[in-house]
Amino acid sequence: MNCADSKALLSAYADGETSMLQGHLIRRHLEACPDCAAAHEDLRALRARIHAEAPRYAAPPELRARVLATLDAVRASAPRARPGPKNERWRWLSGGALAGCAATVLAWVVGSAVLDWRTSEDMAVEAVSSHVRATLGNHLIQVASSDQHTVKPWLSARLDYSPPVRDFAQDGFPLIGGRIDYLDRRPIATLVYRFREHNIDVYVRPETGRASPTALRTLHGFNVARATGFAMDWLAVSDASADVLQAFVQKLAQEAGLP
Ligand SMILES: [Zn+2]
Repeated sequence: MNCADSKALLSAYADGETSMLQGHLIRRHLEACPDCAAAHEDLRALRARIHAEAPRYAAPPELRARVLATLDAVRASAPRARPGPKNERWRWLSGGALAGCAATVLAWVVGSAVLDWRTSEDMAVEAVSSHVRATLGNHLIQVASSDQHTVKPWLSARLDYSPPVRDFAQDGFPLIGGRIDYLDRRPIATLVYRFREHNIDVYVRPETGRASPTALRTLHGFNVARATGFAMDWLAVSDASADVLQAFVQKLAQEAGLP
């Protein structure tokens, strides 16, 4: 093995991802070559630092399931080793290159799944903060009306989209008004409903096409429930019970845009 071969495989080797033969050849090269040995030491030190200093997030079960499904898909589509090229060295070099490609694709896919998840988490956190600010600051409502024909045009005039608006008083969820908030750095329609003594803020924006967010969770004592329907993302925040909130946001996503 020469230095070029060794450098090509060094990071895979540091991650314990080389074959036994490759590992053996690299180990022998490292014993003889101070340059490559130093590069290898740098990699190990970097690994140790990342381990010690990078923040860690525990993945929720649905993210884990999505990553595992992606892994299966990548494995299924990875090119199989073709039998029989006689040149042994060419074979393991190209094998290494293909493995490198698959690892890059995988890193990208997993990375974007984690980013989607973080964005969706951040969105839920922002929504709860916004709900708390509006409640404490007593500016829950900028347009007070139970009439969808008043609330909808008021919101539409202030946004670049037109959210579906419907009163659900017959189901125990009267519409009491709306306001404009800023979430994810963009203005967003907020519909305000009542359920018994609870306020429910419903944030409505066009569907982003990102992977489906966490359906239900609790943050700082508030429940956050989400659904998609009528090409919109619906995100409801309230201190009403999780069951009630989830059923309501699903109802909105299925019925709010009906004629
Ligand atoms: Zn070397």
